[in-house]
Amino acid sequence: MGPPGGGKGTQAGLLKQQWQVPHISTGELLRAAVRDGTPLGLKAKATMDAGELVSDDLMLGLIEERLSQPDAQTGFILDGYPRNLSQAESLDQVLARIQQPVSGALLVEVDSEKIVDRLAKRAQQEGRSDDNEATVRKRLAIYAEQTAPVANYYAEKGQLVQVLGEGEIAEVTQRILAAVNEAGWG
Ligand code: ADP
Repeated sequence: MGPPGGGKGTQAGLLKQQWQVPHISTGELLRAAVRDGTPLGLKAKATMDAGELVSDDLMLGLIEERLSQPDAQTGFILDGYPRNLSQAESLDQVLARIQQPVSGALLVEVDSEKIVDRLAKRAQQEGRSDDNEATVRKRLAIYAEQTAPVANYYAEKGQLVQVLGEGEIAEVTQRILAAVNEAGWG
């Protein structure tokens, strides 16, 4: 977990190599569905472009389908899911059913001033249609209102690890590995 532009995707991509498990990014899955023009993509595009959350029902279907793939049977890194409390509860039910309980939840924290700068840069480099200023502001607001409480959900279960996401990418990765080792995941 972490704010939009907080580096979740970058760090998950690096940890995937370390842990040899798939990196499952719901944002990437949705963008692929939009690119491919699937029914899900058609339903999700306007919501994503507005910086809002795609419905919990659609997301649950997407995540269940992805977790049923062969490569996810021995573990995975989820990036971008769960993003509100209802998704966190649904995920726990799915994981109990498939007998793959959560090892832990990682929160990568980044100051919101830095996020605006990072996303402005990413908008130039990648041209994502949701990285414009109005949408970024909306995404940050939704993160604060709906996603930040998910960190408390895991903290109450003693499953939350928090790491500062500022500084060099490799430095953040080292911080994550140290924190996760200390927490005894894996
Ligand atoms: P970021 O973390 O930078 O906002 P993501 O790639 O994780 O980017 O997500 C992009 C968009 O995809 C979100 O703004 C939202 O519209 C949609 N999305 C991704 N994951 C979820 C989710 N779990 N629930 C609802 N919508 C989601």
